[in-house]
Amino acid sequence: MSSQDVQNYDKNELLNHYQAVKSALDTANVLANRAASPCGLIAVSKTKPATMIADLVAIGQQDFGENYLQEALGKIDMLKDLPITWHYIGSIQRNKTRDIAKYFDWVHTIERDVIAKRLNEQRAGLPPLNVLIQVNIDDEDSKSGCLPDELPSLIRAMMDYENLRLRGLMVIPDKAGSDAFVRTKALFDAMAAQFELPHWDSLSMGMSHDMTDAVAQGATMVRVGTAIFGARDYR
Ligand SMILES: *Cc1c(COP(=O)(O)O)cnc(C)c1O
Repeated sequence: MSSQDVQNYDKNELLNHYQAVKSALDTANVLANRAASPCGLIAVSKTKPATMIADLVAIGQQDFGENYLQEALGKIDMLKDLPITWHYIGSIQRNKTRDIAKYFDWVHTIERDVIAKRLNEQRAGLPPLNVLIQVNIDDEDSKSGCLPDELPSLIRAMMDYENLRLRGLMVIPDKAGSDAFVRTKALFDAMAAQFELPHWDSLSMGMSHDMTDAVAQGATMVRVGTAIFGARDYR
């Protein structure tokens, strides 16, 4: 049994935190005039037990994000009878693509064509996999993601992959403040103008500390972990 199966937690506290995040997101949507097409919520459950996920599914949460493949596969199997949309938001090594293609509904972290190509091949026989390209908007060597300059050629390579549905961009900004969100939205719009992308509708940006900002700048999904589940313990 792995550590995430035996964590104790206070269920009422979990539900209260979740409701607080939902209402903060509602407020952010209203403030951004997004009530008609509100930004969605991905509950980032990495390091947290399957029972916590099931508690949130029971009150209507559908989308969950995971970063660590082995951990995620265990939870996906345990919860396979529940209506859950699984988002892979971790970094992707080549030898992990087969399971990601098979078990996830969305992948947010594509940054190079070798990975996209493998996911496309390995998704054959299933409905198209929804994918986002992670952009390195701050242009820093240490960060993952596709550089803005390289984005057009990656999109060109990916647009004909029949088992992938290219939905948009994902970003993890380097510093607080909405500037990176503004630049990511501008890049998103520029790509929509430059290419014929029939499913280009998603912008994954914003986490616990900056989700309101991200919604104001056009996020269509925020990825929230700590504010819902509490701090993570990596021991
Ligand atoms: C862990 C993680 C999150 C959630 O971050 P919190 O600060 O806990 O809300 C969001 N996105 C990615 C890519 C992550 O790895």
